[in-house]
Order: sequence, then structure tokens, then C-alpha cells
Amino acid sequence: MGGLGSGRQSGKRTTNQVISITIKELDFADRLHGSVRARYLLDGKPVEHTIQLTQTACHYGGVRHWFRCPYCPRRVGVLYLSGGQCVCRHCFKLAYQSERETCPDKQFRKADKLRVQLGWRPGIAYPDGAKPKGMHWKTFNRMKAKHDFTVQKIVGITAQWVDKIKNRQRSSL
Ligand SMILES: [Zn+2]
Repeated sequence: MGGLGSGRQSGKRTTNQVISITIKELDFADRLHGSVRARYLLDGKPVEHTIQLTQTACHYGGVRHWFRCPYCPRRVGVLYLSGGQCVCRHCFKLAYQSERETCPDKQFRKADKLRVQLGWRPGIAYPDGAKPKGMHWKTFNRMKAKHDFTVQKIVGITAQWVDKIKNRQRSSL
């Protein structure tokens, strides 16, 4: 059994990156266990935690698998890992609306747009690609710098939000 982070795109995952995981990335065998272990490096140290899975019946038979967000009752297809925690995008948004902070949705879209322009696969969790053929190095370096800066922003924002969500949870206990 692999667990998250042992899959095909794990190679370049490093410290301080926001990592998104989608339910489709999981091996079928993993999904049957009712939970998966997410493993990644945080500041060079391995972090591991368990994410609960749940399933719903499909209209045409079979089941659909979901992650259970640890901070709200939602079932989601994507979770974001940051600062040693997993949260769904709804929880990010909730924090955004109450705190009036920059919404990372906008930054995620900005990063994806740059990735598409660079011919890279959208999604900052994927490894960065190479310089597209025919593009000037100057242009490439400028766009890559913009991309990296946006990713850094997302990392900062999500880390803050995770802390806030954590604090809120603690204070409501
Ligand atoms: Zn949530």
C-alpha cells in the first residue's frame, strides 16, 4: 500500500509547498481501507497523518469516494496540505470571509494561468516543467519568477489560514 505522497508526482515535493491531493490519485486498494495516510516532508522532517475517507452511492451503481475534511463535515474530492494540516478549500474560504484576507482562490487561478502559458500542467502540486521550445529565456525566467512568487504567496496565506482554523477549533472546545 502506497499512501499519499508515494505516487507518481511525489518526486519534487519539498518543504513549505502547499500540496493538494485529489481522491482520484489514490490507489483503489487505499480507498477500501476507509482512511489513507498522507506522508510528506515538512522542513525536511517527514510528516504523516491519517485522512478519513467516506463514500456515496452512484446513480448507476458503484460508489464514489471522498475525503472527509477534518475541520468541517464536508465531503470533498480535493484537500490541501500545508503546515502539517489538511483542509478543504471551503475551510480556506470560510477563514477568508471572516478575516477579510486575500483569497487564495485568486492566487491559485493566477498560478494556474501562468502554468498553462508555460505549457505546464495546471496545479501547483505538480512539478514545474521546462522552458517551452521557442520561448526566450528572458521571458521564461520572468514568468517562472512570477509563478514562484505566486506560489510563495499561496503558501503564506494557506499557512496563516490553517493556524486560524486551528485556533478557532481550539477556542470552541
Ligand atoms: Zn473543510
